[in-house]
Amino acid sequence: MVHVSKVTKKIGKYHSQIRRFRNQKKTVRIIHFLTHRGMKQHNRIHLQVFLRGLRLAFNEFIFPSVCTCCGDALSERDRYLCDTCLTFRFDMARQTDPLLLPDCVRSSFALWNFDKGEVLQDLLHMIKYQNIPQAGIELGQELGRQWLASGNATPNLVQKVLTCKEPKTGIYKQMCLVPVPLHQSKFRKRGYNQAEKIALGVTEQTEIPLVKDQSVIKTRKSISQTGLQLKQREKNVRGSFEVKIPQEIGNKIVFIIDDVFTTGATTFELAYELDRAGAQEIHILTVAIA
Ligand SMILES: [Zn+2]
Repeated sequence: MVHVSKVTKKIGKYHSQIRRFRNQKKTVRIIHFLTHRGMKQHNRIHLQVFLRGLRLAFNEFIFPSVCTCCGDALSERDRYLCDTCLTFRFDMARQTDPLLLPDCVRSSFALWNFDKGEVLQDLLHMIKYQNIPQAGIELGQELGRQWLASGNATPNLVQKVLTCKEPKTGIYKQMCLVPVPLHQSKFRKRGYNQAEKIALGVTEQTEIPLVKDQSVIKTRKSISQTGLQLKQREKNVRGSFEVKIPQEIGNKIVFIIDDVFTTGATTFELAYELDRAGAQEIHILTVAIA
């Protein structure tokens, strides 16, 4: 008897799905008639614009767009972070003393100071694990903007970028952004690499091109660096990166892009590998510094 009632329930569900599908088809047919056959072209366009506006207003009512960081209403629908969060919420970063960098790294620039257990940590965690890659791009745009505005981290380089009139030529051809790669298995699980999304935002602001996909890869899976001491972190990532297409790196001014710079174990390990592949200069750009 239990089985029969289950089957009946299932059949009922299918019937209601079919009915819904038929109704949807009917609605689509009516809209199609109104917008394509029964009206003159200018009226048709007005109706289409009106219907689109109605749909947006409906979506706005049901799913209002709010800032991923603070939850305040956003003025633009396709944005994830509000101007207040991008401009004022976080402390501008203290920059790493160049003396603390390995010889092969020319400079390191971070946007904000990492706030353990606070909003920025939550935001970066969300971008990594909650499938909001667009927010990563917005952080990258801010990172690119502030790097250009800073001037003092890499004065000559910023000057060269700002004075180059023709993107994709001259200095741009000698530069590339290298997001810290994810191991393939992690990439498949997450669906995207957050460092790559940040790099996309930096590209939009600076015009510095992104390195060709799969030029630099992570060959070995490492465990999370969180909670590890410096030596353990270094051991964890040692030999885990490989430059697959050396001509993409050789003689180039390379910018390593990542979300957080903590001890530098990961970015430095990648820098050593890029240096071995013949990079001319290596710089590091990160959203936060811990
Ligand atoms: Zn906000």
